[in-house]
Amino acid sequence: MKKYDYLIVGAGLFGATFAYEANKKGKKCLIIDKRDHIGGNVYCKKIENINIHQYGAHIFHTSSKKIWDYVNSFVEFNRYTNSPIANYKGEIYNLPFNMNTFNKLWGVVTPEAAKAKIEEQKLASGIVEPKNLEEQAISLVGTDIYTKLIKGYTEKQWGRSATELPSFIIKRLPVRFTYDNNYFNDKYQGIPEGGYNIIIEKMLEGVEVNLSTDFFKNKDELIKLAEKVVFTGMIDEFYNYELGALEYRSLKFEHEVLECENYQGVAVVNYTEREIPYTRIIEHKHFEYGTGDKTVITREYPSDWKIGDEPYYPVNNDKNNKLFEKYKELASKEKNIIFGGRLGNYKYYDMHQVIEAALETVEKEF
Ligand code: FAD
Ligand code: UDP
Repeated sequence: MKKYDYLIVGAGLFGATFAYEANKKGKKCLIIDKRDHIGGNVYCKKIENINIHQYGAHIFHTSSKKIWDYVNSFVEFNRYTNSPIANYKGEIYNLPFNMNTFNKLWGVVTPEAAKAKIEEQKLASGIVEPKNLEEQAISLVGTDIYTKLIKGYTEKQWGRSATELPSFIIKRLPVRFTYDNNYFNDKYQGIPEGGYNIIIEKMLEGVEVNLSTDFFKNKDELIKLAEKVVFTGMIDEFYNYELGALEYRSLKFEHEVLECENYQGVAVVNYTEREIPYTRIIEHKHFEYGTGDKTVITREYPSDWKIGDEPYYPVNNDKNNKLFEKYKELASKEKNIIFGGRLGNYKYYDMHQVIEAALETVEKEF
């Protein structure tokens, strides 16, 4: 008999959801994280009484009533609707791409006129079947928007040309012929009142947690403690990169407290020109309609990833997806290891998808 039923590596949303459900079923879990806090990338830190999204803006959105009810069972969500703006060389545009954007850019007033403008630019580009992000973007919104709002942002975010990136990345953003600045199409959206930590803390009530504990520093001993391991770190690191390293994008966050009540008037401003080194500035108080004399902003700088850096985004192009399939094959032979989450499954998952995937894993497991 081992001391635990499950050793869960990673106290992010995947690990915490699994731990919560396993604990409810009477399973004994130990959850570890190499960071000194729980929550993974949804972790918030309170500064000046404002919940700071320590690892970038996190807006919860889903069309699944099941997932919405699930997260609302831990905390109440506010009515926040993400409506970021884009700043291109001082010109301001609404996002996602919608009638407000088209009107500002071309002076068009009707959906018909906007569609005609896009069609004209698409035809001029000669693209018939889009093969990469650049071609997909031009097909969807034309060359003007591609040049001002997509190319620079995308190339600094991903550190490669938009012609080398998969189309699906740009399809995350809605294109709308209505005057609607809601960044998401999902039915439900909001920010947990009081921040994301509340969800994770509630999920981990009654579960043993060891922080500042890196699985790889003590792998053999840790594995012996439990019948099974749920691993939400990097799958290629788990196998000591034996088939080669998958590629990730990293980020650097620069947080700053400002002696001003309202810095930018909105939670998220995207800086879409290539020359500005950060992609976005987040002003956290707007996520929760905060008041007060001070504000906290975060500049988000994309950066190359090398072994040892924080892997924020998987780079899901063909080359990496093929390599991941090989790791997946290795993983499928494991009897006692379950891989999950953004890093374990090497997928550009949003929060609702991570929770959904964790609940599916739970269903299979119990
Ligand atoms: P993580 O949160 O990364 O958790 C994995 C944990 O494992 C980490 O805490 C890590 O420290 C730990 N770990 C890794 N290796 C080891 C090891 N060897 N030993 C011990 N511990 C280890 N989603 C949305 O739905 N809406 C958004 O607006 C949104 N914005 C985002 C913005 C940014 C900048 C980023 C990077 C992501 C965003 N996401 C958003 C996605 C969201 O963060 C993820 O879907 C979710 O947090 C993934 O949860 P996870 O548990 O898979 O991974
Ligand atoms: N994107 C862009 N301009 C913007 C916002 C997004 O070109 O102003 C592109 C960019 O390639 C980005 C992708 O759309 O990586 C997806 O954007 P999203 O906001 O979903 O990115 P995330 O929040 O996951 O970083």
